[in-house]
Amino acid sequence: MMAFLTLLARNRLAMAGGIVLSLVILLVLLTPILPLADPDVTDTGNRFKPPFSEGALLGTDHLGRDLLSRLLWGTQLSLAVGFSAAIIAATLGAAIGIIAGFYGGRTDNIIMRGVDMLMAFPYILLALAIVAALGPGLFNALIAVAAVNVPFFARNIRGITVGIAHKEFVDAARLAGMSNARIILTEVLPNVIPVIIIAMSTTIGWMILETAGLSFLGLGSQPPQADLGSMLGEARSALITNPHTSIVPGVMILIIVMSINLLGDGVRDALDPRLKSGALSRPMAATMVKREAPAPTSEGKGLLEAQELQTQFHVKDRVYRAAGGVSLHVEKGECLGIIGESGSGKSVTALSVMGLVASPPGVITGGAVRYEGKDLIGVPYKQLRDMRGRNVAYIFQDPLATLHPLYRVGDQLIEAIRSHRPIGKEEGRAKAIELLEAVRIPNAAKRITDYPHEMSGGMRQRVGIAMALANDPDVIIADEPTTALDVTVQAQILALLDDLRKSRGLAIVFITHDFGVVAQLCDRVAVMYAGRIVEEGQTADILDNPRHPYTARLMACVPELGEGKRRLEAIPGLPPVVDKLPAGCAFADRCDKVQDACRQGDIPLERNGARAVRCLFPETPLKEAAE
Ligand code: ADP
Ligand code: MG
Repeated sequence: MMAFLTLLARNRLAMAGGIVLSLVILLVLLTPILPLADPDVTDTGNRFKPPFSEGALLGTDHLGRDLLSRLLWGTQLSLAVGFSAAIIAATLGAAIGIIAGFYGGRTDNIIMRGVDMLMAFPYILLALAIVAALGPGLFNALIAVAAVNVPFFARNIRGITVGIAHKEFVDAARLAGMSNARIILTEVLPNVIPVIIIAMSTTIGWMILETAGLSFLGLGSQPPQADLGSMLGEARSALITNPHTSIVPGVMILIIVMSINLLGDGVRDALDPRLKSGALSRPMAATMVKREAPAPTSEGKGLLEAQELQTQFHVKDRVYRAAGGVSLHVEKGECLGIIGESGSGKSVTALSVMGLVASPPGVITGGAVRYEGKDLIGVPYKQLRDMRGRNVAYIFQDPLATLHPLYRVGDQLIEAIRSHRPIGKEEGRAKAIELLEAVRIPNAAKRITDYPHEMSGGMRQRVGIAMALANDPDVIIADEPTTALDVTVQAQILALLDDLRKSRGLAIVFITHDFGVVAQLCDRVAVMYAGRIVEEGQTADILDNPRHPYTARLMACVPELGEGKRRLEAIPGLPPVVDKLPAGCAFADRCDKVQDACRQGDIPLERNGARAVRCLFPETPLKEAAE
């Protein structure tokens, strides 16, 4: 609730609308105690007095009635009718929509076809017909306006309910033996209420207009009773001679409807979770770069090299240092592993290489990424796009999320190729088959016409790998490509990547949180913690002799086959949040070897040949072991 109000308060237009509307409502509430003339007393001697004349601040109408008094009483009536109509329409419409959406099948069909029939009439004609049948009068106008808006709510809410009624938590409630009525009240309703409120807030203004329209036509409030619509209607004949009689109610309608709509839009934006997280602000095509320091000079290491790479997320006034100065490199034909707990900055580091971190909120604030020695940070987007997929390709964790659900996998493969070079239909098909064969999908010629959902998880991941291979890249960055797969499929995928590395001389950066995978595939490994590398070295070397306490603790978490009984030690605590990193070692709070010095000042990454460790008190000292 608080979050909703703060979000709403940040929207200036909505706030302005809210303030104006509150003033109007306050005025209307105070109307009975204000010293106003009787709105219905005629005084034909004082007809059409102009505004600001004595005793009539806004003038008088064609029967000499005080316009200010009529305006306030009329506004009260119009608002009351508009709000009531909205509440009635929302309640009825939502009830109909929820029932139709929840029960589905024949119930849904009968209800929704009825609703469709109502919707087939122009709503104002329908409202006129209803009032004609019931007889003119404000109450009947209210019923008519509510009735013509019920279908709108019913359709909206039904759509949402259909989505919710098939969610797992509803199935779970059903299996737990809850009655339908209870499921609707406790599981479905709380999820549709925001939608109901949104629909209401954006339609109340509309309903006030519709009520005013009916009154304008003489079908709503009956004389002498004033509402905004009937005031306009009565003023029509004097529109040219005494325009103030029309302007007064007209301006009030404008103010009310404008303020309600502005507020309603604000409410909708604040309640919609997608808008809240900024999903509608499209991410830029490449990560924003704001390097304060110049790029470090090249060390000329490897085919792909990151030097002191810093990537941050700027969310409001918080700064998350997701990658805090990461240096890595990978040679042709080599496999580098990056390992660390979830949230340690592995993905952000990997995505920064090709400028794929979403901006906003991502910003690359320092360091360099060198491909064949050339710095890529801040190069024109066209050049970056050219390199994506052709020089450096990615394989992501969840192949279901990376593949487009509505296109055949073959077409998606061809599209990946076509974005780099034109390719004909036949050639494309042949190439797609060749790629699927390269990742050992059986019966590839038939499989290219499959949709992603027709394949198993392992096969989809193979398609992901095939797509990464489509343009013969030199480097493949695989971000936990096997985490979603079971062990046998994982082993096959790893063997496949290893083969590709040997046969094509691919450089692979393999991100994982699994030491078993690292041992099987990687030549070298870098251990990340809280956005920095804490240890690096040859895989065998690190596995035999972990130096950083974090690495040692991570390895103690891995069960080993045939090793007999051993306690698997979980690391207590959680990694620090990267917007409030402690001074000194980020692991200090969880480390059992921590000493006072660990918490003071920055701890450098100490290097000795291929081995590096960022720790003041390593398990075995770096220098000594190298000798
Ligand atoms: P992992 O090592 O599991 O791949 P990530 O690289 O995805 O971790 O994330 C590293 C850190 O970056 C996380 O701790 C998270 O707090 C932060 N982060 C990631 N994405 C965002 C974002 N969009 N906004 C703010 N912080 C983010
Ligand atoms: Mg990740």
